[in-house]
Amino acid sequence: MPDLLSEDQRLLWHPYSPAGAEQFFSVIGAEGAHLHLVADRDQHGRGAAPRRVVDAMSSWWAAVHGYAHPELNSALNRQAEKFAHVMFGGLTHSPAVELAEQLTAVAPEGLSRVFLADSGSVSVEVALKIAYQYQAAAGRTQRNRVIALRGGYHGDTIGAMATCDPVDGMHAAFDALVPKHVFAPRPPAARRCPETGEWQTDTDQFAVWAAEVRRLASDHRDELTALIAEPVLQGAGGMHIYHPEALQVMRQVCNEYGLLLIFDEIATGFGRTGTFFAAEWAGVSPDVMCIGKALTGGTMTAAAVLVTDDVASTVSTPGAGMPGALLHGPTFMANPLACAVSLASLKLLHNPQHPWPQSVSTLERSLHHGLSPARRLHSVADVRVLGGVGVVELHEPVNIPAVTRAAVDRGAWVRPFRRAVYTMPPYICDEAEVATITAAICGAVEEVHG
Ligand SMILES: *Cc1c(COP(=O)(O)O)cnc(C)c1O
Repeated sequence: MPDLLSEDQRLLWHPYSPAGAEQFFSVIGAEGAHLHLVADRDQHGRGAAPRRVVDAMSSWWAAVHGYAHPELNSALNRQAEKFAHVMFGGLTHSPAVELAEQLTAVAPEGLSRVFLADSGSVSVEVALKIAYQYQAAAGRTQRNRVIALRGGYHGDTIGAMATCDPVDGMHAAFDALVPKHVFAPRPPAARRCPETGEWQTDTDQFAVWAAEVRRLASDHRDELTALIAEPVLQGAGGMHIYHPEALQVMRQVCNEYGLLLIFDEIATGFGRTGTFFAAEWAGVSPDVMCIGKALTGGTMTAAAVLVTDDVASTVSTPGAGMPGALLHGPTFMANPLACAVSLASLKLLHNPQHPWPQSVSTLERSLHHGLSPARRLHSVADVRVLGGVGVVELHEPVNIPAVTRAAVDRGAWVRPFRRAVYTMPPYICDEAEVATITAAICGAVEEVHG
């Protein structure tokens, strides 16, 4: 009998991997903040015993309530008893309507209409199409590019990929395929003092950045539909934290040149940075907002695009060769199971016994405390924390397999990338579980990189 990991290697393709890449662990269970992993083989070639590790990644930032949560499971089961899925063309259902009510109630001001998509990348595609349709409907059909930030990440589909960082993203590999957008520098790094709550950044660099964004918008004013950015925290492009005032600059520039402002809150939404949506750090409302990842509490794939009345009504008005309809409609959009479990997740986030701000501020404190010893390591260039995000950045690229294994040996599952070993723990982690994560990160980095 070939074992699971060999069969995986023979048959499956893993993210950003060659066919046949070796995986080292399989998951046989998950509960609370823990994954139960089975390692490949022990040193005698025997299957090793399962190990229970704290998931420092929340399964790519989604499983904010941890695993096998009884209320999420029961929401899924209750909806599955009624109907698991129906098409959304010509039909509607209460989980979708209720979810739209709740999302528009908690979203930044003005976002009043919801398109339910089926993954983060798809929601970004929809946002880009909405921006194009918006400008075209207003007669500006020559506008077909966006401003994106260097260091950004917005997904892997072709449209979304074209807005990712042009150097570290996949532009080099897909140069002939991706539309060419306008790239602004990313705003300079900032940090928020955990004691005073004040944000600090280099004000000269910030002024240079703001002037450059304004210049690019002005130079390309007749070509641009929108500006797209991950507010305050650029995630998969490098875990870069920047000053919320940058969002105000983006808002002004968009107003000045008639661009839509698209915030990609797929990573930052649902409390992760310490505000429910990261846009709230600056009190700025975008015209279009993408959400995903933690929307369903990490149980299913789902995403959404929220827009203002102005955007919805302009796109819905026929004219200038545009049909007056949003031209998108995934088969599994508004999946009832996903909507029902999203509602249950929102309810848990606002549970008065354990409201999300309390969980995230406890996480923030524990991450500050637990990761700061890493500052003393030779290999470490920077340690930064914002809300439920903790990052240890090295001087050199992380030895990913070695650090992953060393962290598992210390009881935590991490998935570093490039120069960053980072964590976004489930909000349900207690202090001991966060301490396990931070000790595993510091210990693994020291063991592997010194
Ligand atoms: C993960 C992510 C996406 C892509 O979402 P998928 O569900 O993986 O398609 C887009 N934008 C940001 C900011 C993300 O973190």
